[in-house]
Parts: sequence; structure tokens; C-alpha cells
Amino acid sequence: MAELIVRGGMLVTPAGLRRADVAIEDGRIQAIGPELPGGAEEIDARGLHVFPAVIDVHLHFNEPGRTEWEGAATGSRALAAGGGTVFFDMPLNSTPCTVNAREFDRKRAALKASSITDFGLWGGLVPGNIGEMAELADRGVVGFKAFMCDSGLPEFPRADDFTLFEGLVEAARLELPVAVHAESHELMQGLSRRMAEQGRTEARDFLASRPVVAEVEAIERATRLAGEAGAKLHIVHISSGRGVVAAAEAKARGVDVSIETCAHYLFFIEEDLERLGAVAKCAPPLRDAEQHDALWKTLLDGTIDIVASDHSPAPPAMKTGAIMQTWGGIAGVQSTLAVLLEAGHFRRGLPLERVAKLTAATPAQRFCIAHKGSLAPGNDADLTLIDLRGSYTLEARDLQQRHAISPYIGAAFRGVVRRTLRRGETIFANGAITARTEGTLVRPS
Ligand SMILES: [Zn+2]
Repeated sequence: MAELIVRGGMLVTPAGLRRADVAIEDGRIQAIGPELPGGAEEIDARGLHVFPAVIDVHLHFNEPGRTEWEGAATGSRALAAGGGTVFFDMPLNSTPCTVNAREFDRKRAALKASSITDFGLWGGLVPGNIGEMAELADRGVVGFKAFMCDSGLPEFPRADDFTLFEGLVEAARLELPVAVHAESHELMQGLSRRMAEQGRTEARDFLASRPVVAEVEAIERATRLAGEAGAKLHIVHISSGRGVVAAAEAKARGVDVSIETCAHYLFFIEEDLERLGAVAKCAPPLRDAEQHDALWKTLLDGTIDIVASDHSPAPPAMKTGAIMQTWGGIAGVQSTLAVLLEAGHFRRGLPLERVAKLTAATPAQRFCIAHKGSLAPGNDADLTLIDLRGSYTLEARDLQQRHAISPYIGAAFRGVVRRTLRRGETIFANGAITARTEGTLVRPS
């Protein structure tokens, strides 16, 4: 008899919706079916939908070194409150950055001690560290992250084309993906310099300094190089419909590329940056209504593979003042599923199975994380129970992250996360964190 039964929920599986019980033993799903024999413990899920928990492939918890910006203790609690059980932490903005095995070990130890969810680690690809990539692969990185433009941190320099190409070749040898922040350094540098010379510092000027063409050009270049190198490429946070189309064209030519966008590009447009200020500043920036609609079109037609948060928090002092000088990063780790349910499912008819695919199944598949990402016997019991009849307006006090700074505060959402289970343990229930144990490292199999 199983230790735990999740009773009577509507399961969201790749094959569709199905009302069934879930039997859990040793942290794994033992069986799925109707009226399974009772366990020592039962969770009543009648009236709720049972999703595979969110795997957030792109965020910044900044530990070790910048935990005053976030930290895995608070960040992972916010992820759990949003229905997530796994995150992949970027090699920055922790400090030192995760660019060699020593820093991997330090970050792994820090996260193991503080995270309530499981986690994977991205390694960095920066000029001069190609020789470190093999050891990072041995340690278990999910892939390598490179910036094609300035990262915002001097300790994580951008990858010039030569570094990127050599890194792609090495990553192909190691059979791991390279993730790129795709914006043209050359174009943005020139435009930013011009803005500065003209004393232009408003939100509109910031937007104009990072145009869609800078994204499209970098995506085209990255996919060319990846195709030539025979590497797996993951393009993070594509912000525009045109950007997605450029990546999809490369995919159609046979380049092994996965396409990520972030919840904020699906929820906000340029005018929201002017309205909300620095809390909605990110890079690439929010786009106009036309590119926002085009992005949604590519999400609805299945061209976008993965939706992540790119949670990139900073202390309040760095998010106030002139927009050009403030930190670029949106702190939205708790709201990815919320955005896909409200703006996707309820407003645009996005099927629930697709929500689960974008946030769990494809992340697990693309990054070869075995036993996670879908509701199936043998997989880890990583589930989130959602009340689709419930609704709420997000308030600052709901946020579990370190600083209650989020552009989603004040927004109304349908669909409430009632409970999150990580390997069978309830880590969040009815508005409160209940985790008793820490998370562990996941690595590609
Ligand atoms: Zn990021």
C-alpha cells in the first residue's frame, strides 16, 4: 500500500485530462488510476487540477555572494508558492560566477543548504574558460550560458563570436546545450552611446536602445554558429514574435534549437514599462502590442518550446531612480504558471496540457532530466494542485521572495496554487511554506 494518495484530482497529462488518484511511495509516483487503495496519508484533490510541478529553466537566485538580492532560501520558497519544484540557476549573478568546477561546488553546497526545491546549475561560457567546460560537464551542469551582449556584470564578460563558436564546438562534444542571451552588442552599444550623447534617459529611450532588430540579428548569428558547430542551442527569453520566427526558421533548416520566452513578455507591453517604471525593466525589453501579439501567436501555435521566469531580482535601491541606470531584471519567479493560466488558458484558450508541456514536460526533455516533468508512474512525485475556480489579486504580502518587488503586484489571476509537492513532500500548502527537507541537485542523464 502506498504511503500517500492524492485522491480524485483532474490530472493534466500529455495525453489529456484524466480524473484519477495518484499513489506515491518513496517520493515517486507508484501508480495512477481510479480508486487506488488507501494510503497511510491522503490528500483530497477533488475539485482541483493536478499539474506536473513547474521546472523553471532560467532564473537568478544570486547565491553565493549576492544573497542580499535574493538567495535560494527565499527564491525557492517563491518558486514553490508558484507551483514549482525545480529551478536551473544561471551562472550569474552569484559571485563568483559559475565558470569552473570550484565555483560549481561552492554553489551546489550553498544551494543544497538553503533551497527547498530541487535545482540544476548552468555553467558559464565566457572568454577564456573553454578549458573548464569539460570539468563543469562532469560536475553535472545542465548546459552553458553565454551573453552575446554585456551581461550587466563586469565579472561575466560577453562571449564574442569566436568564444561563442569555440564554446559551441566544445559543448557539442560534451553533448550539452549552450544557452544564449541573444541581443547584438554592436547595435546596442551604438544606440546607447547615441542616447547618452543626446541626454535621453526616459523609458522610451531605453526601449529604443534595444530594438527588435538587435534580438533578431543575434538569434540569426547564434543559430548559424550552432548549426555549423553541430551544437544544441537554447535561446533564452525571446521577447518578440519576430525573434521566435527567426529561431523557428533555423529549426526548420535543421539547427537543434529550443525557444524560450518569459512570462513577462506574455503579460506586459512597452506602455507597462512607462506606467510601472523600473520594476518592469528587463533585457530584452518589453515590446509593443504588435510584437506582443505576434509572440502570443507563436506560443499558441506551438512554436515556443519553454516558458521560464528569468527571475532576476535586485534590492529596492537598485530598482529606483532614472530608468537607464536602474537594474534590468524582473522578479517574477512566483508568477509563471499564474500568467499562463490567466493570460493563456482563460483569456486565449491555451489548453491545460500545453501549459504543462511549456513549464514541465519540455524543460525535462530538453535538458535530459530523467523522472521529472510529467505525471507518470516511476517519475518523481513533483505535483502542484491548482484550484481553477479560485482567483486572487497578487499582493506584496503574498510574495515569498526576498524583496516584495514585482510588476505583477495588483494583477488579477484566475487559478490558485493550493499545494505543491516535491518528491512526495508537501513544501507549500494554502499560502504557507511547509517544507521540512532541502532540495537536491538534478543533472542531465
Ligand atoms: Zn537571465
